[in-house]
Amino acid sequence: MMPQSPPYLPVLQLNADYTPNKVLRWERAVELLMMGKAVTCTPYPGRFVRSPSLAIPWPAVIVLCRYSKARGKVGLSARNVLARDGFTCQYCGLPPRLIGGAPDRSALTLDHVVPRAQAREGKVFLPWARRQVPVTSWENVVTACRSCNLRKADRTPAAAGMTLRTVPRVPTQADGLRIHLARYPEVPSEWEAWLPESWHTRDLPHSANGIPVLQAG
Ligand SMILES: [Zn+2]
Repeated sequence: MMPQSPPYLPVLQLNADYTPNKVLRWERAVELLMMGKAVTCTPYPGRFVRSPSLAIPWPAVIVLCRYSKARGKVGLSARNVLARDGFTCQYCGLPPRLIGGAPDRSALTLDHVVPRAQAREGKVFLPWARRQVPVTSWENVVTACRSCNLRKADRTPAAAGMTLRTVPRVPTQADGLRIHLARYPEVPSEWEAWLPESWHTRDLPHSANGIPVLQAG
């Protein structure tokens, strides 16, 4: 549940086929509703967006009237890499958690899988991608706990005798939404019916913040 009266309640946008595709600020959602480009699927009960001439139920979930092919790119950032990896070390599988279950970010670091020291002109060759990529890119940066990072040091996983649990990849659009959802301490209950069953995270062992562990590969 969301707190009773937060200043802003975010809105889940569904594409015209009812697949979840992004989280909007309420202002943008209301704009889409007013332009007739979307309709409300589920409102937040008892909440209204008011102007002098109008009060409309505060949308929790809206659906676009026309299918949108727009693909949002997920920006490469430390926070987003951790969220992609489910706040879980990609070498030992440890998901450090604070009391209460939220991820303990202070216990996690970012690791360049092929170390920077091996980069030529800022690029490294990734066997799993079979190509050169910038040393700092989605495909070469993973979440690692401090002890794994220390142990691996300036070596490739193979040279360090370590194994990556997943293949690091560029997030898909669905990943992007999950990464975005990781910002919310809890997903509003009004959204749950519209999110894939597998994202209902209560039963997942390593879920945190109501967000499932993301599996790359
Ligand atoms: Zn580890």
